Amino acid sequence: MEYRKSGLSLNHVQGCPLDCAYCIRHTYGLWDSRKPTALMSDAEAVELLVRHRYFRPHTTPLQIFNRATDPLLPGVKDHLFVCLEDLDGRGLTNHILIITRFILKPEDRERLNALANLKVTLLFTYSGITDKRIEPFASSIAAVSMKLASELRPRRYRTVFYWRPLVPGLNDSPEHLATAAELSKHADAAVFTGLFYRGEIADYYKANGLPEPYEGTARRKIVPETLEQRVLEAFAHAEGSAVLFRKTSCAVAYAHGLPDYNGHYGIRELCDICPVRQLQLCAGAHNIPTARQLQEAVVDLPEAAGLMVLDVTERAAQVEGLPDEQPRYFLQHRFAFQIHDAGHPHLLNRHGRAEIGWEQPA
Ligand code: SF4
Repeated sequence: MEYRKSGLSLNHVQGCPLDCAYCIRHTYGLWDSRKPTALMSDAEAVELLVRHRYFRPHTTPLQIFNRATDPLLPGVKDHLFVCLEDLDGRGLTNHILIITRFILKPEDRERLNALANLKVTLLFTYSGITDKRIEPFASSIAAVSMKLASELRPRRYRTVFYWRPLVPGLNDSPEHLATAAELSKHADAAVFTGLFYRGEIADYYKANGLPEPYEGTARRKIVPETLEQRVLEAFAHAEGSAVLFRKTSCAVAYAHGLPDYNGHYGIRELCDICPVRQLQLCAGAHNIPTARQLQEAVVDLPEAAGLMVLDVTERAAQVEGLPDEQPRYFLQHRFAFQIHDAGHPHLLNRHGRAEIGWEQPA
């Protein structure tokens, strides 16, 4: 279990044969695990999740099988449905994000649609990359799955066109952008994001003679400024394209008609591409916590004993003294308000992204 920005993530099945060269599995030392393997029973895993110190019924956003496998793979899908039905059967209404690039079958969408309580979002990863050395499993398959999922009427779950990773020179030609805008018409919302290009992934590219997308590596996802502008323009010109977001949680929240649970509204320049009704929803939910409320929220978390709140503005709280990102995300979701680590400052207009490809501020 791991608390990530989009939600508390359950990963008791690990291993994936799809072999995307940029897979985050490289960074977990799991690249060689190609066969999905369950680490425990689904009942045990769900019990661990709902008893987890970060879990709050109905509020904590959840993710499942997003780290080291694909939830719709044979050998994973049965686990997925058992867990979803267990959580749903408990009457829980939490968000749950399911990120896939695999094949969705008609019977899968029926089963997903039968979930009565959870706020389910299917995010279909699509890149348009055709270099088989980088993506052996064609992302056009995810596009077919997305269309099938979105066609069902009526449906409770929501669909997101998860356009990533966008890499300059690889999948950002005008044709790539136009195709993506066209495909997005089949989803309830769209997100675009860049590449996590960390040391372990760069090493893999080098060892396998793959064309390296960037000269440097970065802690955050990389989306160069000019690429972002071209993406926004491509969607603006494509009539009927899905509403496009910079942040995953914004797309998920919008698709369900709810305010963003990460409180991105505080970072005002992030919202300049958002529909007015959604802006109003997020504005209405934007509450600035006090430093004391933040401190009180972590009294039961031993790992957050060193929390120091340095500043709280209407944009975000600046904190330090946390050992890693997990308690920070707990606070961020608890208050739907941005909590930034003072050690990794967020710069104006950078949208929380890596510095590669952006002008340095004056
Ligand atoms: S208003 Fe801002 S925070 Fe809310 S969904 Fe739109 S972009 Fe995200």
